[in-house]
Amino acid sequence: MKFYYSGKQPDAYGVIRVHAETCKSLPDILGRIYIGMFPNGNLAMETAKNELQLAKVKVCKCCT
Ligand SMILES: [Zn+2]
Repeated sequence: MKFYYSGKQPDAYGVIRVHAETCKSLPDILGRIYIGMFPNGNLAMETAKNELQLAKVKVCKCCT
């Protein structure tokens, strides 16, 4: 299980990235939203979609 965070700034394609706590590209504390503790990035992504009402969410490449 890892802690997962959602970024706040969409990228050029309008996609918000979900990151694990260990990710090198994890945004700093003001630029992220805590989602919860999950066994994998896909579950974190689904939760972010539902709870934060985000249309386009992807798990960061190194966090799947
Ligand atoms: Zn990552």
